[in-house]
Amino acid sequence: MKPIIILLTTGVLCMGCTNSPKQTSPSASDLAQKIKRFAPVVITADTARLSPADQHVLSKLVAAAKIMDTLYLVQGWEGNLTMLKTLEADGSTEGRERLHYFHINMGPWSRLDENKAFISGTPVVKPPQANYYPEKMTKEEFNEWISRLPEAEQKKATGFFTTIRRDANGKLKAVPYNEEYHDLLMRASSLLSEAAALAANPTLRSFLEKRAAAFLSNDYYDSDVAWMDLDSPIEPTIGPYEVYMDELFNYKAAFEAFIALRNNEETSKLTKFSGFLQEIENNLPIADQYKNPKLGAMAPIRVVDQVAIGGEAKAGVQTAAFNLPNDEHVVAEKGSKRVMLYNVQRAKFEKILKPIADLAIDAKQLPLIAFEPFFTHILAHELMHGLGPHSIVVSGKKTTVRQAMKEIGSAFEEAKADVAGLFALQFLIDKGAISKEMENQMYVTFLASAFRSLRFGIAEAHGRGMALQLSYLLKEGAFSYNEETGRFSVNFDQVKRAVRKLTNEMMTIQAQGNYEKAKEMLNRMAVLEPSVQRTLDKLTSIPVDIEPVTSLNQE
Ligand code: ZN
Repeated sequence: MKPIIILLTTGVLCMGCTNSPKQTSPSASDLAQKIKRFAPVVITADTARLSPADQHVLSKLVAAAKIMDTLYLVQGWEGNLTMLKTLEADGSTEGRERLHYFHINMGPWSRLDENKAFISGTPVVKPPQANYYPEKMTKEEFNEWISRLPEAEQKKATGFFTTIRRDANGKLKAVPYNEEYHDLLMRASSLLSEAAALAANPTLRSFLEKRAAAFLSNDYYDSDVAWMDLDSPIEPTIGPYEVYMDELFNYKAAFEAFIALRNNEETSKLTKFSGFLQEIENNLPIADQYKNPKLGAMAPIRVVDQVAIGGEAKAGVQTAAFNLPNDEHVVAEKGSKRVMLYNVQRAKFEKILKPIADLAIDAKQLPLIAFEPFFTHILAHELMHGLGPHSIVVSGKKTTVRQAMKEIGSAFEEAKADVAGLFALQFLIDKGAISKEMENQMYVTFLASAFRSLRFGIAEAHGRGMALQLSYLLKEGAFSYNEETGRFSVNFDQVKRAVRKLTNEMMTIQAQGNYEKAKEMLNRMAVLEPSVQRTLDKLTSIPVDIEPVTSLNQE
């Protein structure tokens, strides 16, 4: 009960809790149930293959990632560090569960339960302003304030790297991160400088030096550019990045870190596929006039193995791939880079996809569920975003698929990348560029992974796109459902034809910029068939995500 008293007396209350400040916290067994939704798994990589100097670099980076934890907690809520101390001092079973779940969520709000508090003495839901803005500031007050600022000041106030505070007179002001988080950023900067001095790889050294400087200057541009150019056995991503925690405006960036090692095997697989992209485009199952005779440069993709994470990266559902940077100036000049976390995908496959398959897939086809086709299809999905129609002409006017498809564009594009990914891999199998063994595995694993995507709901683009594909492929007889066993299977004699047909339909709609037709198709097909819904209902006891456990040394 101690935490309640301490926290209430420090006056840490949010706007949301004034109506019902009292709440009951879940019991230890409730918490155990919540924790069980995250399957613990060791996420690591072979650090022994690094040079001794690079191993030293790595340990500095792991220590810097830990500072991102503290920074993120401070950014989320001003009571977080005090609460963490209190939790750490509580040795009771219930106390230990609370601490465990606090670590999983990086704070006292349960992310899988609409961000409701699971510890007493905190705002009942995660405060939308986080600790980026003053507690009682409204959106209107902020907007009114910035409307009177000169443009340069306005930019700072709405920028990624400032917090908003009140001065002595209660007036709003922007405080740069290097002032607000001065001490923590000094420590992180020193660790990165020390790591830079040890690093032999010039691109790694350059990124670390520039990031160390950015933590002190609050100017992240040069270091973001250097991050794009990284080509090194160690691939660190560390700093303020995503803006989701700022639920008022999505302006402010949260600190996080992904410290990873390059996965050489998968990187060379990717290079090999990239060499076939123009040939795949030329052979897409669409009218020739819609094909792109000369594909532009693709955004770079890196496949890495995660060894440590920090800050927002730790919170709740684990990231398996990300696109950065977010700064539009860097993106305009250098593009963005996609980083795929191979070992995280593998852990999700083992802990979630396989148990789903065990319940959803026909027993005879279960031996075909395999990780390699799962990951290869994710790579193909990413690459296929770059293929097919992009710049189009609608009613004599030049436009893009994205503009023409408006709010349904992402669900449609995600489904296209999935199904065209199957088409592309089949093309490479037929050419002998990928082993024939993967053919049947790929379709069955894809069918099982459809249920994994649908579990997150069909309100979101990936889930909605997947519902469309599943309904379509069931209707075409590529997949079927057995009422007696309650399981799904792939019809290998139908699936290739159906995949070509769906790829053709979706890409043709995109090429014609036919918004109405796309909308009609989504409304008709992006629904859950009763057989699919029944299967989803069977999956409730399977973990929703993983809880990564690492055992790396740090300095
Ligand atoms: Zn995608």
